[in-house]
Amino acid sequence: MIVMPRFFVAEQPENGVLTLRGDNAHHAGRVLRLHPGESVTLCDGKGTDFDCTIETVEKDAVVCRVQDSHPAETEPRQQLTLFMALPKSDKMDFIVQKAVELGVREIVPYLSKNCVSRPDKTEKKVERWQKIALEAAKQCGRGYLPVVHAVVSFEQAAEQAAQSQTALFFYENERQTGLHDALSDGVGETVSLLIGPEGGFAPEEAAFAVQSGLKSVSLGTRILRCETAPIAALAAVLYAGGNM
Ligand code: SAM
Repeated sequence: MIVMPRFFVAEQPENGVLTLRGDNAHHAGRVLRLHPGESVTLCDGKGTDFDCTIETVEKDAVVCRVQDSHPAETEPRQQLTLFMALPKSDKMDFIVQKAVELGVREIVPYLSKNCVSRPDKTEKKVERWQKIALEAAKQCGRGYLPVVHAVVSFEQAAEQAAQSQTALFFYENERQTGLHDALSDGVGETVSLLIGPEGGFAPEEAAFAVQSGLKSVSLGTRILRCETAPIAALAAVLYAGGNM
């Protein structure tokens, strides 16, 4: 499969033309050394791909003529949202990157009782995670630019997660319901995955999650690290949702 160079652009075509500017222009012109006549894919980050031909290459503007536009072909069938408790050190960088590769649409970081990392200022962290999401989305060819939201409380995360058609609470102490059984009736169009920190969930948090309407599910008999669990959970949901 020939993977054409791919760029996210914020604007829509004007008179059949899209222009790469700033970092995009530098990457196209100086790094990839693209020339007029070559093909590129420009993506609006909201599910539409524009197949283009480069018309002109300047230092800070690469003009692309739109030849065709179509829905991006690289998105999962379901809209996946990961609700992730703040882990220690820079594990969230890794989790964000892997979740984007695995097709997540939104990431909602939250603070729960057992989160060891409790930064009072998280704006800069969220900005960094959003940059990591952009790079990962470019690398794997996403059609949507996933959004990393501001940090919320556990309660807010659980209540938001419960809005999805398939709302999964990955609980390390769950012994009855495995993910396989929980998804035996299929996967809804919107899926929430709620994952805890290194210290897991406090009993009252587990009760709140279930009362909020989340389904408590197990990822098996072993305890996965907080950076392994979202990867395993996302891969299993993708499989169950017919994406693999
Ligand atoms: N401190 C907890 C303990 O020792 O039981 C482990 C928490 S685990 C490191 C971090 C998170 O990954 C959990 O809160 C849960 O969301 C998820 N997780 C890990 N293993 C799991 C499993 N076997 N079933 C369901 N969720 C799991």
